[in-house]
Amino acid sequence: MTRPNCSTDPVTVERVATAVEGLSEDIQSFAADLVRVPSVQGEERPAQQRVSEELESMGLSVREIWPDDVTGLKSHPEFSNDGQSYENRPNLVATRSGRGDGPSLLFNGHVDVVPAGDTDQWSFDPYAGEIEDSRLLGRGASDMKGGVAAMCYAVAALERAGIELEGDLTINTVIEEEAGGFGGSLATVLDGVTADAVVNPEPTGFDQWIANDGVSYFRVTVRGKGAHAAETDNGVNAMSKLVPIYQALEALHDERKITVHDELFEEWHEHTVSLNLGRIRAGEWASSVPDEAVLEARISHAPDETREKIHDVVEDTVREAAAGDPWLEEHPPEVEWFGWRGSSAKIEAEEPIVQTVRSIATGALGRESHPKGFPGGLDTRFFVNYADTPAVCFGTGAYNIHGTDEYLPVDELEELTLALALIAMEWCGYEVVDGG
Ligand SMILES: [Zn+2]
Repeated sequence: MTRPNCSTDPVTVERVATAVEGLSEDIQSFAADLVRVPSVQGEERPAQQRVSEELESMGLSVREIWPDDVTGLKSHPEFSNDGQSYENRPNLVATRSGRGDGPSLLFNGHVDVVPAGDTDQWSFDPYAGEIEDSRLLGRGASDMKGGVAAMCYAVAALERAGIELEGDLTINTVIEEEAGGFGGSLATVLDGVTADAVVNPEPTGFDQWIANDGVSYFRVTVRGKGAHAAETDNGVNAMSKLVPIYQALEALHDERKITVHDELFEEWHEHTVSLNLGRIRAGEWASSVPDEAVLEARISHAPDETREKIHDVVEDTVREAAAGDPWLEEHPPEVEWFGWRGSSAKIEAEEPIVQTVRSIATGALGRESHPKGFPGGLDTRFFVNYADTPAVCFGTGAYNIHGTDEYLPVDELEELTLALALIAMEWCGYEVVDGG
C-alpha cells in the first residue's frame, strides 16, 4: 500500500464544495426520506431499501449481509441478543472502486433509531421528515440519518466533481447500533468487510471520537425470608439487606470517578467512567416482608481497564458489603452479568486517519476539532478490536438526540458531506479526471 502524498489544494476543495452545493437539494431530500422511515430496532429494512436505491442510482452495486448467515457471529464473545430475530434485517455494503492501489476507506453508519417516546411531547411529528427554518426535523435527523445521507452523498459529490480516488471507498450501512451493534457492525466485520481505515459519521460535533468506554450490565439478587406483615420480625427483609450493597456500589462510583482517568474523556465529561444504579425490584405488596430484592446496574470501564477487572471489583464490593451480616453470610448475594456487554476501544490521536480527519475539520472546514473519548458503546470498537483497523467517529452536532424534538441544521448536513468527500480524497489519494 502506498500512501499518496496529496494535500488537497484550495482549487480542488472549491470544486468539491461546488459539487456538494449542486447536490444540496438531493442530499436534504434523501436525509428527509430516511427520517420518514421509523426504523427502530427490528424495523430497519425499509431504511436499508431506501439507502440501497440511492446507492444504486449512483452506479454502485449493493451487497447485503444477513446476520443469520455470518459464521461465528452468535458464538462471538461480544455477541448478545435480546431475542430479536434477524430476519428481514440486512446490512449493506457498496464499494466505489479506486483506480490505483491507494489506501482504502470505509464509511460506516447506522440506519436504526431509538424510539420517539411520547410523541405528544414533540412539537412536530418525529417521522414527517419536514425541513423548517433550515432544519431537518425528526427522530434520527442527527443520530444519524443525516450522517448516513452525507456519507452516501460524498460519493455523489466526488462523481459530480469528476474526481477518481486511488483507493477503494466503501459505504456500509448497518442495523442495530442502538441496541449494541451485534447484528450490524459486528456481523459486518465478521463477514470480512474491512478497509485500511474507518470513518463513522456519528454526531460528534465535528470532534474526533477515538475511544470509548466498555459497558457491562449486572444484577445483584439478595434473598430474604417472607413473612406476614403482622409478624415482620419473623421474616428477613430482602430490601433492607440490599441497602448496604446499594450504598457500597454508590461509593464505588464515587471512588472510581476520582481514581480512573483518561484525558480523552475528561476533555468534555466530568469523569471517565460511571456506575449507574438503574433499577430495583423488591417485594410484592405492602403487607408482606419481601423475600427477594434485585438491583440492576450499568458500569463502564476505561479503555485501559479490562472487563475481567471490573467484574472482580463489583463482585468484591458486593461481597465486602455483605460481610459481617450473619444472614447475608449464610445467604450470599448473587451477582449476574447480563444483557449487552460492550468492549472498550481506543486508537491514538496520532493515527494517520485521525490526523486526516482533523486536518480536514480544522483546515477546509475551519472548525475546532478535538480528539475525545465517548463514555459508552460505539460501533467503531468492532473494527478496532476485531479487524485491527483504525476507526474514528466524526460527524455533525447532536441536536436533541434520543430525546424529543431531534433535528439537524441542513448546513451541517452539507458541511459533513463535503468533509467526508475531502477525507476520502486525502486518505485514498485522488486525481481530477474530468476538467468539467
Ligand atoms: Zn448513533
